[in-house]
Amino acid sequence: MRGETIVVALGGNALLQRGQRGTFEEQYDNVKKTAKDLANLVEQGYNLVITHGNGPQVGATLLRHDAGQKMFGIPAFPMDACGAETQGFIGYMIQQALRNELKERGIDKYVVTVVTRVIVDPDDPAFQNPTKPVGPFYSREEAERIRRERPDWVIVEDAGRGYRRVVPSPDPKIIAERGAIRTLVEAGYIVVASGGGGIPIVEEDGIHARGVEAVIDKDLAGERLATLIGADRFVILTDVDGAYLNYNTPRQKKIDRMTLEEAKRYYEEGHFKKGSMGPKVKACIRFVEAGGKEAIIAKLGRVAEALRGEDGTHVVPE
Ligand code: ADP
Ligand code: MG
Repeated sequence: MRGETIVVALGGNALLQRGQRGTFEEQYDNVKKTAKDLANLVEQGYNLVITHGNGPQVGATLLRHDAGQKMFGIPAFPMDACGAETQGFIGYMIQQALRNELKERGIDKYVVTVVTRVIVDPDDPAFQNPTKPVGPFYSREEAERIRRERPDWVIVEDAGRGYRRVVPSPDPKIIAERGAIRTLVEAGYIVVASGGGGIPIVEEDGIHARGVEAVIDKDLAGERLATLIGADRFVILTDVDGAYLNYNTPRQKKIDRMTLEEAKRYYEEGHFKKGSMGPKVKACIRFVEAGGKEAIIAKLGRVAEALRGEDGTHVVPE
């Protein structure tokens, strides 16, 4: 195996643009555009591992299951199984679009998706404090009925928009399929893995694992993936051209490069918003801290420039 290995994390905008409805065609069209950039990286000799978000997609899957149960009595699946469904269809889109793009260029490489489970700690404090809203909105009456039927669910009022289930967002520890992913990369495959942050599982007794109803941040899971397969670089693509100091204020300033030390300081100072830029910077810090050469946050469509050091925010050891 020649060349550097990079893990590229695709943000929500790689699958859906603002204002789109979420048809399959829209999503596939978006993936086709990104596939061109990814094919360029393959042409440049990078070994590529791709991960992606699934927020809107798993949201829609949960609603489909809910509607299917109400209208046709088809039992709704739990969140872990819905996460697996989205990993499958999003992986399929990337496999198809990227394989086609590579074939057009005369590159005979296959893209494979690994349904990925991510081990979380059952004692993670997140399980005591679910924060991530998922699934449909309910009326007060529905919410009360569901609370009786599903005492294990936490339902909260969502700022005047109705009632909604919230689930924990635990910290990812280990990518269960890391060995298989690494082997596939070494064999020359392009791998899609840990989609939507992976399927959260807990290990019960040292032998048996089970899926849990939770959501893992895709950037934090992407770091685990990158670190555990020994990637050289970790690239997070999103809808802004990098991480900013004093974001959304008159004094906002893009960070071109920051050392581990600086990144930690800015993070502590609260420059990066929880749930959006926060986990990206945290993931970069963790990747470099674990020995990675460089982590990059850049705009989708600018990955080549970012890897050349001409765009994005670069987190480096020192
Ligand atoms: P993705 O789907 O790529 O994970 P997110 O919405 O989670 O996208 O994160 C990207 C968003 O983070 C940007 O659109 C921006 O509004 C927001 N953001 C918050 N703080 C910052 C910051 N300090 N610098 C840049 N963007 C920030
Ligand atoms: Mg995000």
